[in-house]
Amino acid sequence: MSQYRTFTAADAVEYAKKFGGVDDPSALVSAEEIGDGNLNLVFKIFDNQGRSRVVVKQALPYVRCVGESWPLTLDRARLEAQTLVEHYKHCPEHTVNVTHYDADLAVMVMEDLSSHRIWRGELVKGAYYPEAGRQLGEYLAQTLFHTSDFYLHPHKKKAEVARFINPEMCEITEDLFFNDPFTDHERNKYPAALESLVVSLRTDDALKIAVAGLKHRFFADAEALLHGDVHSGSIFVADGSLKVIDAEFGYFGPIGFDVGSAMGNLLINYCCLPGLLAPREAAEGRERRLSDAHEVWSQFSSRFLELAHAKTSDVALAYPGYAEAFLRKVWSDTIGYCGTELIRRTVGMSHVADFKQIADDTMRTECIRSCITLGRTLILAADHIADVDALIARIRQAG
Ligand code: ADP
Ligand code: MG
Ligand code: MG
Repeated sequence: MSQYRTFTAADAVEYAKKFGGVDDPSALVSAEEIGDGNLNLVFKIFDNQGRSRVVVKQALPYVRCVGESWPLTLDRARLEAQTLVEHYKHCPEHTVNVTHYDADLAVMVMEDLSSHRIWRGELVKGAYYPEAGRQLGEYLAQTLFHTSDFYLHPHKKKAEVARFINPEMCEITEDLFFNDPFTDHERNKYPAALESLVVSLRTDDALKIAVAGLKHRFFADAEALLHGDVHSGSIFVADGSLKVIDAEFGYFGPIGFDVGSAMGNLLINYCCLPGLLAPREAAEGRERRLSDAHEVWSQFSSRFLELAHAKTSDVALAYPGYAEAFLRKVWSDTIGYCGTELIRRTVGMSHVADFKQIADDTMRTECIRSCITLGRTLILAADHIADVDALIARIRQAG
């Protein structure tokens, strides 16, 4: 059995030589640590021609961006690798290929996606990937349908729920999404000018009850194997290609959480574009973001229904009309979780480049204000927005 130690670049090269799956392992000569995330080490492994060939990712026993004072389970590397392997089975086109992992070393080897770029960075620059929304909807439908009770045998489903028990990572989400932004917490960080808006979130009974419902369903509704952290920084894009990475929050939860997180990040970008681009480009970018969000839901829901009609094995769940009824529940969850993503990214601790990169202070504050306001509207209206066209209309109305 291997024993955990934190990898140096040289360790990562040695590891890739043994487990990288390349046909010329002796050509692998150097590694660069490129992790820009909050949690882990990520090494790109280069060959003697200077080409990057594979990626080695290792979990640290603490939260990287905070330090050793915030310890964190190494089991998240197993959960990430196993979630990605499971998702890859059902959607190889849009999931990074993890070729090897070692639970004791908390390490995995995966395909190098250097030909791609992180979507968030592209969204911030105003670059457009017209197929990305549809591709993300496809990823969500394939991975979530095939790990749900519509598809899995009940015995297999229960075993899978047990395999993906992820309490420590779930607790982070439970705190950062559903607690911190709605209480006076030291981890919160937002512009002083928004104090009264943020304080109003803490005292709004209807909002707190809706958020409690979302948190309760996050605890209880083991509907499918979620990615658990599908934000635009966990998605690589290239012309005509989209690949999802970074699934260490994977667990069995409510399907709307993944769909809502994905759409929420597009709406954060929508709110921030006026601070990032010149007026005409910003207006064009905002239309594209609405159409991306529309595509995510349209593709997800139509593919999920198609799969449910063709492949549901359980006789009760296969009853005509049930899949449609279930999707209505997923739709209101999606809107609610989308709202919590908008608020936790702005009021809570995990900020994003979409507004961090806005140079002008006043403009940044106004973009953050519109994220928070839209987030609150969505959480409160989640049960009353009929369909995705009505959602887009609401967003336009919010300004
Ligand atoms: P964390 O869990 O710490 O957030 P990520 O999996 O998001 O780590 O990876 C951090 C960064 O490393 C990504 O934003 C990306 O720039 C780079 N990266 C991760 N996986 C790959 C890959 N397979 N190919 C190329 N770069 C990658
Ligand atoms: Mg990441
Ligand atoms: Mg991560």
